Amino acid sequence: MKIDIVTIFPDYLAPLELSLVGKARETGLLDVRVHDLRNWTHDRHRTVDDTPYGGGAGMVMKPDVWGDALDDVASDAGTGPAPRLIVPTPAGVPFTQGMAAELADEPWLVFACGRYEGIDARVVQDAATRMRVSEISIGDYVLNGGEVAALVMIEAVVRLLPGVVGNPESLREESHGEDGLLEYPVYTKPPSWRGLQVPEVLLSGHHGRVARWRRDQALRLTAQRRPDLIDKLDPDALDDHDRSV
Ligand code: SAM
Repeated sequence: MKIDIVTIFPDYLAPLELSLVGKARETGLLDVRVHDLRNWTHDRHRTVDDTPYGGGAGMVMKPDVWGDALDDVASDAGTGPAPRLIVPTPAGVPFTQGMAAELADEPWLVFACGRYEGIDARVVQDAATRMRVSEISIGDYVLNGGEVAALVMIEAVVRLLPGVVGNPESLREESHGEDGLLEYPVYTKPPSWRGLQVPEVLLSGHHGRVARWRRDQALRLTAQRRPDLIDKLDPDALDDHDRSV
């Protein structure tokens, strides 16, 4: 997968050199390029923003600078398919695990990281004539810029690429996975720590009981913390025991 990120703060993306994402880059599973938006400015002050039409507080990112940047970054496609443009914005559709899986199937993503009051709306309109564009929010709160949102999305997407997570089995039973539940609590050695015991069933070696305990825990936790997820469960996927938890 190829990922381009356009930002006025390239250093914000330094964590992409670390951990599993960094390793995926080293092994060639992932090709990441970070671009400084100011390379496409037209004045000696390297201006990327201007005052908003209609008045009001804050500044808006200029369409000409963004337009040129996205033209150049996407021109790498040559005659091949255009990238999918991701524009992080608190006014976007909510990012989910399902969306991460969908983006993991794309060969090429471009992230356009806004700052200030955001990017002139015509940039998305114009880009949408040449490529697929998704305006995505990582949650119902407002960050200072799109860089952290891009990091969140990239990490969620890249860990789904084949070969990135050592044991693909570990992706199967996670929160927000196929069963629609939050993950059960997990434990490791020692069996007793500060007077707190690992649940006995997990030491039993009895796979059936362990699986049942984990599912019960996942159902309880989900009901407590995210009743909205319980409402979305497929009733046909629940057995009698599930219903009694
Ligand atoms: N004026 C905008 C609004 O109210 O919708 C907020 C702009 S915010 C201060 C600046 C930039 O941070 C946005 O352009 C976007 O790139 C990023 N951003 C802020 N919150 C975000 C969120 N929840 N999800 C994704 N991106 C976000």
